[in-house]
Amino acid sequence: MNKPLVLVVEDDAAISNLITTTLAMQNYKYQAVQSGEAAVMAVASHNPEVMLLDLGLPDMDGVEVIKKVRSWSTIPIIVISARSEETDKIEALDAGADDYLTKPFSVEELLARLRVTFRRLSYSAGCEAETTIFENGDLRIDYASCCVYLKDTQLHLTPIEYKLLCLLAKNVGKVLTHSYITKEVWGSSWDNDVASLRVFMATLRKKIEKDPSAPQYIQTHVGIGYRMLRV
Ligand code: CA
Repeated sequence: MNKPLVLVVEDDAAISNLITTTLAMQNYKYQAVQSGEAAVMAVASHNPEVMLLDLGLPDMDGVEVIKKVRSWSTIPIIVISARSEETDKIEALDAGADDYLTKPFSVEELLARLRVTFRRLSYSAGCEAETTIFENGDLRIDYASCCVYLKDTQLHLTPIEYKLLCLLAKNVGKVLTHSYITKEVWGSSWDNDVASLRVFMATLRKKIEKDPSAPQYIQTHVGIGYRMLRV
């Protein structure tokens, strides 16, 4: 099997070396670049499977790189940044990043995020022809009939709960920000919607999670948003 190509965008030589050494040890192929412009060019010319992106680059902000690349590419982008503010993470995710790691990070954590991303890629490749049923553990969504099942029991979801669940399922493995979710579900994004979102998420969890206080399917990213995990 061909090892996937990982594009590493990092201007700090020590961190870049740490990442590329880790990738090489795991038999990933990699290409390392030091600037935003080189990153955009590399995505266009080498078609990497995943991009690991630093936000503080010498020529442009990493968020600008995400916006440029997203105008034509769906490549998964994992941000690795020293910026730990929620607003920075939200900005990167809203621009189209798939995940983020805060520096300093552990290489095990980085490899775990990569595995999740590749698993999601292979799932979506395998699911292209079969889009009417979504399955994840005991959870099953039949899009054609708008029915949701847990094991073989049909769940009764409100229209908003159903919309929320479908949105998370469609983006399984990906962190979705509050503002992205509220925009998709309600068509707007007000603080008020974020409060409503919490309420709907709580009622949805009561229906799909065995233990809503220790959710298996929907993970909370405090202050940022939610992610459906592959179980
Ligand atoms: Ca940097």
